[in-house]
Amino acid sequence: MGGDTITSTGSGSSEPDPALLDRLAAIRGRVADAARAAGRTHEPTLIVVTKFHPVALVQQLAAAGVTDVGENRHPEARDKAEAAAGLGLRWHFIGQLQTNKAKQVRRYVDAVHSVDRPELLRALSSPDRLLEVFLQVNLTDDPGRGGVAGDEALEALATETLEAEGVVLRGVMAVAPIDEPPAAAFARVVAASARVRSLAPQADGLSIGMSHDYVEAIEAGATHLRIGTAITGNRPV
Ligand SMILES: *Cc1c(COP(=O)(O)O)cnc(C)c1O
Repeated sequence: MGGDTITSTGSGSSEPDPALLDRLAAIRGRVADAARAAGRTHEPTLIVVTKFHPVALVQQLAAAGVTDVGENRHPEARDKAEAAAGLGLRWHFIGQLQTNKAKQVRRYVDAVHSVDRPELLRALSSPDRLLEVFLQVNLTDDPGRGGVAGDEALEALATETLEAEGVVLRGVMAVAPIDEPPAAAFARVVAASARVRSLAPQADGLSIGMSHDYVEAIEAGATHLRIGTAITGNRPV
């Protein structure tokens, strides 16, 4: 992907960078086009992934009308969520999450997209405000990539999520493998989603689609897109 690196770190300014606004507008346009072409009546929710970027970028995105942001590491995500409090953003945790960090993460996020094991689910369960949960499906053979492997484990985790306190089962999430056409990978997520919906019809969320495959994801029925670099530019190293 092309795109400029955001260099306006540390300025604290939320004055939008014109290149950022251009990329955001371009992606919004392509998302709308793809949704229309797929005959969709609802556009998917656009989650802009801001991981590794400074809070100034989050502030610029909010000023440009972005409502949902995604982060993948605690405590960086918490620090940004605190610094950007009051902007009305919804925070999505999209990365692998250690069980011992779950309680802290649930305090500042609205949704966790990476729930893939009972221990994590139990740690996220709480009588506090409701947390939206997506069950992550592993589309690779590598357990290190995170995600539930196998239909039985997925159904068991869905059942436990439905019974857990303080969490709402929203749907499934996946990251397409790089060595496979996205449409083939997304077909497996759609099948996993059908299994979950057979247990919980309202859990129809499909969190798929990143910078390189969001058009295919929309064609497959994505309800939540997690787009980073195509909007933010390259992540700082
Ligand atoms: C980083 C990340 C994204 C965004 O990736 P881009 O290629 O920058 O769009 C989406 N989902 C997850 C789980 C990620 O870690």
